[in-house]
Amino acid sequence: MNPLIRNIARTGLAACSVLGVTSLARRKQSGACILMYHGLTKGQGRGMENHSRLHLDINGFRKSAAVFAKHYHVIALQELADLIEAGEKIPDNTVVLTFDDGYASNYHLGLPVLEEFGLHATIFASTAFIEREIFQWPDRIEYAVDHTSEKRLLLDFEGLPKELGLSSRNEKSHALITLDAALKLIPQERHLESISHIEERAGVSLLSEPNPADIYQPLTWEQLRKLEASEFVSIGAHTHTHPILGKCTPEFARKDMETCLELLKTKGGIETPTFAYPNGKIGDFNASTEKLLTDLSIKVAVTTEMKFNDTNANLLRLNRMGTPNNGYQADTICSGLIPFIKNLFTSNTPPTTSKPKRAYARSK
Ligand SMILES: [Zn+2]
Repeated sequence: MNPLIRNIARTGLAACSVLGVTSLARRKQSGACILMYHGLTKGQGRGMENHSRLHLDINGFRKSAAVFAKHYHVIALQELADLIEAGEKIPDNTVVLTFDDGYASNYHLGLPVLEEFGLHATIFASTAFIEREIFQWPDRIEYAVDHTSEKRLLLDFEGLPKELGLSSRNEKSHALITLDAALKLIPQERHLESISHIEERAGVSLLSEPNPADIYQPLTWEQLRKLEASEFVSIGAHTHTHPILGKCTPEFARKDMETCLELLKTKGGIETPTFAYPNGKIGDFNASTEKLLTDLSIKVAVTTEMKFNDTNANLLRLNRMGTPNNGYQADTICSGLIPFIKNLFTSNTPPTTSKPKRAYARSK
C-alpha cells in the first residue's frame, strides 16, 4: 500500500477508536481474536537491528495490554480450546495472546507487563532456538547484512538472487526485503543451508557472535520453566528447527516435531503443549501435518490466517491475527472494526469471520 494512503488509513482507524466507533464494533463482535507476537524490545536498536519489525517496542505492548485489560476478556489458548470443544459460548470480546519462537525478551519484558495487567499468554518455543543451536532466520539475515564489510553480496545458491548491493542503508534494506521473499520459497530441506550460504558470503554470522544483541536472544530452559510455572504463561510447541511443516517431507516433519516434543518434556517439563505452525498460512500446513499432530497427541494448533474464531472453529486450524503496534491498533483489530465497517456498507451478516484488509506484522 502507498505509504501516504497507509498513514491516512492508520489515522482514520485511530480516530475511530477515539470517537468510540471501536466501542460500537466491540458490542457487535463475537468470536475470539487470537493475536500473534514475537519478540519485544526496548528502545531503538543499532544499524539494521529489528529491520524485520519482528520485535515490538515494549511501550506499544504495554499500551495494548492496558486496552486488553480495560475492554477485553483475555483467556488462555487452552481455555478457548476447551470452550470450543465443549460447544460452549465464547464470551464477548474474547482475546488470546500468543508469542512465537521463544525469545528471551518474552521473559524479561513481556512477563512483567502480563503480571501487571493480569493477562495470560502462550509462548510457542522453537526448541533448537532454546538449545542455542539456531537463531531465528530473519534475525540471522538481518545480522549478516548489518555487520558485513562487503559492499556487494555475491550469492550462488538456487533460488537466491545472484548479487545484492550493500553500500548504503537503503541498499541493505532492499537486500533484506529481497532475501526475505526469496528465502520463503527455498525448499525446507535446504533452508538452513541457504541461510549459512548467505552468512558465509557476507563473512559474518550471528551464530559466531560472542555477544548477540538482546533482541536476538532465546529463552534459557530455566526461564522457560519459570514462565511455564507462572499463572500468566503457558508454553506451547513451535517445532525444533522452525521448518514450514507443510513444505517438508513427512519424515523430516515427524523427526523435527518429535525432537521438539521430547525436549519440551524432558527439559521443560511440558507434557501436552498447544502448537503454532511456523509461518502458518494455508499451504504451510496440510492434512498430513494435521495427522502428524494428532499422532503426537497435539489437539490445539494456531495458524496465521487472519480471522476470528467462532464456536465451530477447527481446533487444529485456529485463526490468528497479526501484531498490533499500539493500543489503537489493538482495539482496531480485536474489536473487529474493519469487518464491522465493511459490514455496515454491505449486509447485516455478523462480521465474526470477515478478513481484515491488512496485517500489522509479517508472519514467521
Ligand atoms: Zn516462528
